[in-house]
Amino acid sequence: MSCPADLAPYAVQDANSKGRRVPEPPPTSRSEFQRDRDRIIHSTAFRRLEYKTQVFVNHEGDLFRTRLTHSLEVAQIGRTVARNLGLNPDLVEAIALSHDLGHTPFGHAGQDALNECMKDYGGFEHNLQSLRVVDKLEESYAEFDGLNLTFETREGILKHCSPQDARELGEVGERFLKGERPSLEAQLANLADEIAYNNHDIDDGLRSELLALEQLEEVPVFARHLHEVYAAYPGLSGRRVIHETVRRMIGTLVLDLITQSAANLRDAAPRSLDDVRAAPALMAFSPAIQQEQKELKSFLRQHLYRHYRVNRMSNKSRRIVRELFAAFMDNPTLLPPQFQEKAKQDQPRAIADYIAGMTDRYAMREYRRLFVMEELA
Ligand code: MG
Repeated sequence: MSCPADLAPYAVQDANSKGRRVPEPPPTSRSEFQRDRDRIIHSTAFRRLEYKTQVFVNHEGDLFRTRLTHSLEVAQIGRTVARNLGLNPDLVEAIALSHDLGHTPFGHAGQDALNECMKDYGGFEHNLQSLRVVDKLEESYAEFDGLNLTFETREGILKHCSPQDARELGEVGERFLKGERPSLEAQLANLADEIAYNNHDIDDGLRSELLALEQLEEVPVFARHLHEVYAAYPGLSGRRVIHETVRRMIGTLVLDLITQSAANLRDAAPRSLDDVRAAPALMAFSPAIQQEQKELKSFLRQHLYRHYRVNRMSNKSRRIVRELFAAFMDNPTLLPPQFQEKAKQDQPRAIADYIAGMTDRYAMREYRRLFVMEELA
């Protein structure tokens, strides 16, 4: 099926796609990128996102973002921007919904601990792991491992990568060696990720009461939008103030991204996807907004991500990951049979895949099964 006629000539379309690793007949009722998105939604790894930490561990509260709701927000923002610039919204959505599939349980604390455990065995990186999930680890199809996604979705998942990994990854790693850019859709998904997490982390930070509204008034971009809300609705209070502020911030960022990127596209005047790959990054915020985002990130790092209560939870999380890894390394017969089989080829990698695939609550339960005598094994 062909792509909508309103796509720009430099957008990714079925016609200029580099295709799938295992060739398949073209889809009959949808585009190639809609098929990618649909495969991602039907995958096991996608369902696990519901129980994986974004910032707050899943059992800390029902209303905090999880990797799943985060990914949906990234997709929503990405689609909006894509439609305004003539980019392929289905590709952006496919990248957004799969970009975090490789995350360990317990967010960055889990990733750091697993990377540390794997330091003598090639390391662990969630971004590479997301690609590994869609290329190898999903076992659903008769004719291939993974989801056999298009090159362009895989390229969008792989945001960064070392020269050594790039060489091992083949075609999808080439741009890191050649110094080329990915598609505009991939660049966009990455920035939509940033818009989503900066804003929902403010919202979750306030909801958890780890952050206070007065503290956030120190952050110029927040203060500016908060004062707009107070000016429009004097006397408004509570959740509505927060939501009205955050929605304005998202709106400002989305509009800025559209405006600045449209200007960059006018100046660079790419005529094809190849022109986009050869040009500098064209999807971008304006310099003023970039500066504000930097200030906001540094505020969140200092006051939320390093809050002592977040640190305590991160500490417990790292301990669970480290102890699970050590126990399985020490005695691989503790692994479920399918992972014992894989461990015969590469024990550390099989263990990393097993642990990375765990949801927060599965990892906690596995920890009890291994180390608490009263718990059933
Ligand atoms: Mg993300």
